[in-house]
Amino acid sequence: MNVWWTWNATASRAFAAIDPVLWDATKHSPLELLERVQKSTLAAACEEPGFRLALADALIHRAQSLNATPWYRRQAKLPQDLRVAYFCSEYAIHESMQQYSGGLGVLAGDHLKSASDLGVPLTAVGLLYEHGYYQQQFAQDGTTRVLYPRIRRETMPIVDTGHRVACPIGSSLVYARIWKVAVGRVSLFLLDADLAENKPEDRLLTEGLYKGEPQLRLRQQVLLGVGGSMALRIVDASPTVYHLNEGHAAFAAIERCAHLVERGATKEQAMSSVRASTAFTTHTPVPAGHDRYTVDEVWSYLRPTLERAQCSRADLAALGRERPKDEAEPLCMTVVCLRLASKVNGVAKLHGEVSRAMWTGAYGVKSAASVPISSITNGVHLPTWMHPLARDFWRTQAGFDPLAPEPNAAGWKKALDVDRAAFWSMRCALRAQLVAFARVRLARAAARRGASAAAMDAAQSMLRSDALTIGFARRFATYKRAPLLLHDLERLAKLLSNEKRPVQFLYAGKAHPRDTGGQELAQQIYQLAENPLFQGKIVLLEEYDMEVGRALVAGCDVWLNTPLRPHEASGTSGMKVPLHGGINCSILDGWWPEAFDGDNGWAIGDERELPREARDRADAESLYKVLEKSVVKEFFTRDRNGLPMQWIDRALASAATVSPVFSSHRMVADYCEKSYRMQATKRAR
Ligand SMILES: *Cc1c(COP(=O)(O)O)cnc(C)c1O
Repeated sequence: MNVWWTWNATASRAFAAIDPVLWDATKHSPLELLERVQKSTLAAACEEPGFRLALADALIHRAQSLNATPWYRRQAKLPQDLRVAYFCSEYAIHESMQQYSGGLGVLAGDHLKSASDLGVPLTAVGLLYEHGYYQQQFAQDGTTRVLYPRIRRETMPIVDTGHRVACPIGSSLVYARIWKVAVGRVSLFLLDADLAENKPEDRLLTEGLYKGEPQLRLRQQVLLGVGGSMALRIVDASPTVYHLNEGHAAFAAIERCAHLVERGATKEQAMSSVRASTAFTTHTPVPAGHDRYTVDEVWSYLRPTLERAQCSRADLAALGRERPKDEAEPLCMTVVCLRLASKVNGVAKLHGEVSRAMWTGAYGVKSAASVPISSITNGVHLPTWMHPLARDFWRTQAGFDPLAPEPNAAGWKKALDVDRAAFWSMRCALRAQLVAFARVRLARAAARRGASAAAMDAAQSMLRSDALTIGFARRFATYKRAPLLLHDLERLAKLLSNEKRPVQFLYAGKAHPRDTGGQELAQQIYQLAENPLFQGKIVLLEEYDMEVGRALVAGCDVWLNTPLRPHEASGTSGMKVPLHGGINCSILDGWWPEAFDGDNGWAIGDERELPREARDRADAESLYKVLEKSVVKEFFTRDRNGLPMQWIDRALASAATVSPVFSSHRMVADYCEKSYRMQATKRAR
C-alpha cells in the first residue's frame, strides 16, 4: 500500500515476476494484479526462487531507504520543526493511478517523491477523481476518441482514514471522505465527494479532472482549498508552512484566515500571519492560463468561509483583482495567491522574469525588477524516470549511484570519462527497447481499429533500431507547436529518405478534451504517419502517460521541443532524456536557456521578438538547419569502430551538466532553503 515501490525497480520487478502479461495488462497495478491473478500462478511464483529473491530484495531496499537518516535531518541550518502542507489539483504518481493530466501533475508527484527521499517533512492534499484524466485513442481517421474509465477504489493504493470533512460551498455542506496515499515517507490526502449523503450535483465535484464547466471548476477549487485546509486539521497534520502549487488551491489561504479569526485574531492579523507562512508557485506565463471568475461567482460559493474570515465582498475583490476598484475586472486565482503568499516563485529563470513583468500591476509597482517573484527551476525525480539499464551503466561505468537520495549529485562529472563503446552499446540497447515497445503499441492500436493482417504485420516491423530516433511528446497545446517540423514537407521527406542515414520521429501527446485545435494537430500528425512518404518513419503513439513517457525519454536519441517562446514556463520532459544519454534540441524557452551551454545539446531559433507567423517561419527554418547540418550529420559520422565520437561527447556533456541540476532532489532542496524557510521560528497554526 505504500507506493514507494513505484520508484524502485527491484520492487516492480518482483511484481512483474508474478505474471508479466497480467502485470502489463493492469498498467502495473499490484493490487489489480493480486486481485486478478490465478491462484495457481501466484502459488507457483511463491515457489519460484527468483521471485522470492526479488521480493526479499525489494523488502530490504524499502526498509533501508525508509529507515536511513535522510538528508533533511542532517541539515542543522534548516528548521527541524518544519511541516509543509503541499496543495495541488493533480498528482502523477504512477501510470496505474490516473490522477493527472500532464506536466503539473508530474511535477507534483516528483516533488512528493523527492520530499520522501530527502526526508523533508511534507504532507500533501488533493482530490480523488472518479475518472481521472481521459484515455486517448485515435479513430481510423485520426480523430481523438476520449474515454473515461472509472477508477476502482479497491484496486488503488488508498486507505480510508475514516475521517470526513464537511466543506461549505455556497449554501451546501459538501462531505468528502479523506483517503490517504503513503508516498514513501510522505502522506498524500485525497478528498472524495462521491458520498451518498451529498446532493447529486455535489457528488460530481470529484468526478473528473479539468472536465466540467467553469462553475464546476470553481466549486472544485473551493473543495480543494477550503476542504483541503480543513482536512489537514482533521488528520492533525499541523503544518507550519503552506505551499500552494499553482493557483487552484488559493482558497486554502482564505480558509486559514477564517480559522485564525475564529481563534481570536483580527482580520488583518490573520492575513498577515497567513502571508508569512504561505509559499506560492505559479506555472503559467500565458495570461489566459490563469483561472478567472467574477467576484459574484466566487462570493456565492465562498461566502461561508469569507464570513468566517470577516471578509466583505470588497475585501474579496481587493484580494483577487489587480486593480481592486475596477468593477469590470474579474477575480484571478493567481492574484489571490500573490496577495496571500510571502514567497512566490516561477519555475525557471526565464519564467521568473516573465512573471515579474506580468504581475507588476498586481503589486502596484512601476518596474518588473521590484516585483518580489523569484524562480526555483523545476526538476525531475531520477528514480522514477531513469531506466534500470541506465542506472546500472552509470554505476558500473562511471562509478557513482545516480539515484543516491542527496540533492548534491557531484558524481555526474564522472560521466564525461566513461568508455565510449560501452556508452554507445547502452544507447543502442535503450533505443532497441523503445522500438520494441512502440511496435507493440502500434500493433495493438491497429488491431483495435480493425486493421488488416498486412497492416498489423507492418506495425510489427515499423521503425528501425539503428535509426536516429527523435522524440516529441507533450500536451498538444497549440503553443507547443507540435507541427513545426511539418512546415516544409518536402524538406522533411528529404531528411527522411536517405537509406544510409535513417531518421525516425516518434510523436505522442494528448490535447485537452475540449481543445479541438489541439486534437486537430494530433490528427495532422496521425495522417502524416499514414502517408506512404513517411510511413514507418513518423509514428504517433496513443495514450501519452507515464509509461509511454518513460519509454520515450529512455530510448530517444534526441528530444525535440518547439514551444513558442516564452510560453513554456519550464517543461520537464527534456530533463528526463540526458539521464539516458539522449540529447535535447530545443527552442531557448523554459528550462533550456539555463541548461544549454553550446556543447550539451542544440538550440533552435533565437531570442528575437517576432510576430507569430514570422516566428514560426524562422523557427522552422532554424529547426531544419540544425537537423540537417548538425544532428543528422553528427549521428552518422562514425569512426573506424563505428562510434559517432562527436555525438557521444555531446551526449555525455549533456548527461554530466543537465542531470545533476534539473533533478527534483535539487529542486526540493531549493524550496527548503529559499522558500520553506520563512517560518523557521513561528508556528503557523
Ligand atoms: C514529463 C512528463 C510531462 C511533462 O513534460 P513537458 O515537457 O512539461 O510537457 C507530461 N506528461 C508526461 C507523461 C510526462 O512524463
